[in-house]
Amino acid sequence: MGYSRRCFVRLSLGSSLVDYRKNLYLDSCDREMKMLRPANNCSFVRAPVLWLTLVVTMLLVPDWVRGQRCLAQVRLDSMLAVDPDVRALYEEGREQVVTYLSQSRLPAREIAVIPVVFHIVYAEDDQNISREQVLSQIAVLNSDFRGLAANVGVVSAHFKSLIADAGIEFCLADTDPDGAPTEGIVRRQTDVPQIGLKYSFDNRRRIYHTELGGDDIWDPAHYLNVYVCEMGNNVFGEASFPNLGPADEDGVVMDYRSFGTIGSARAPTDKGKTLVHEIGHYLGLKHIWGNSQGCDSDDGIADTPDQEKPTSGCPSESRVSCGSFDLFYDYMDYSDDACLAVFTPQQVEYMRAVLTMLRPDLANGSSVCADTKKGIDFVDFIQLQGNPSYGQVYLEAQDSPIFKATVDILDVPGHHLMPAWQVFFPGKYPLPVETLAPGMYFVRLTAGNKQRIFKLIVTR
Ligand SMILES: [Zn+2]
Repeated sequence: MGYSRRCFVRLSLGSSLVDYRKNLYLDSCDREMKMLRPANNCSFVRAPVLWLTLVVTMLLVPDWVRGQRCLAQVRLDSMLAVDPDVRALYEEGREQVVTYLSQSRLPAREIAVIPVVFHIVYAEDDQNISREQVLSQIAVLNSDFRGLAANVGVVSAHFKSLIADAGIEFCLADTDPDGAPTEGIVRRQTDVPQIGLKYSFDNRRRIYHTELGGDDIWDPAHYLNVYVCEMGNNVFGEASFPNLGPADEDGVVMDYRSFGTIGSARAPTDKGKTLVHEIGHYLGLKHIWGNSQGCDSDDGIADTPDQEKPTSGCPSESRVSCGSFDLFYDYMDYSDDACLAVFTPQQVEYMRAVLTMLRPDLANGSSVCADTKKGIDFVDFIQLQGNPSYGQVYLEAQDSPIFKATVDILDVPGHHLMPAWQVFFPGKYPLPVETLAPGMYFVRLTAGNKQRIFKLIVTR
């Protein structure tokens, strides 16, 4: 046994997760030591070199990170592979979910509202993203988890019937764990580059701990903790699966360039879909192609077609693998943001079962959502832009709380001209004026128990 292994055995602190990390670190340690030692001989290493190696290793990004754009599942698989206790706990959770889903009649669901705290941990000013960018991300979450993605038109007719409403909405937390008012956004400067990928000497993830340059998690039983920071190495995001632990690192980590739809968001991950994908993992979903490439590996969800491998880009034509069309519109694929618009009914049921069985205190907590405040007439925030219309007309509310509204277009006698639809604000949404003949119409907005009606003039 070389010195390298002994050094990391000493580093391990005995917990099951540390054992798993230790295993990961052994690889990088071995690699580093090979750079420092004659082939197959580590015995010359003396203390100064050892400590230098430790420091170098601490600064390194683990090798398993490379080549992955989402780390959630590879991290899960690594943990399950090396620690029987972690595996047992995780499998027990999955069994609870499967048993729950096997009931002949599932209980009726109500909308689940999940309070979110965003920890913005920045090393450079451009990583200190704006509140508006956070709100742009929340708007995407609220649309996409209700089956109302703005890009839903991209989904081919073959798959349209698979678009499901998860009945899950998100809000900024308005009360912190101590009961104090909050905006749901915590900002902290760090001197650790790529902190989203870094581990400490004692194998903790730095981003989750203030003393390690990150920010301490809020009680993950009651808040969805989303960290926005620099990851790098082409990694866009990562999430903790339910029942995996440890509790003080149970959240979602996002690269600031794949977050929201404005500001630092960069194509092709500039439509806010990476966080939708990661919350899918956080609520128990696997990648659509399963644990590994090929047709033998499956995601465990009945109504997603078997798929051989991840998709890249945004395919313009149908693809077939494993005997069926690929559902590359599914959020749990790797397609470009522009292409992602589907959670299937069974994926939705699985996520809802996870919320019920494994994250039971997360949704619908008391007074933790800014948008549940009473006494606000949300419709007053909405403006109709571009009217009278010579082109596009937009509904817009930018500097508002988070809320949803129903939009209805009526002709002058009061007839509905198309089915009403929901939108989530803050945000900006085009009206389908191109489908209307020139003339006068009414746009009716409903939010809560309030209504507002705009007159819409369409010209050509
Ligand atoms: Zn993923």
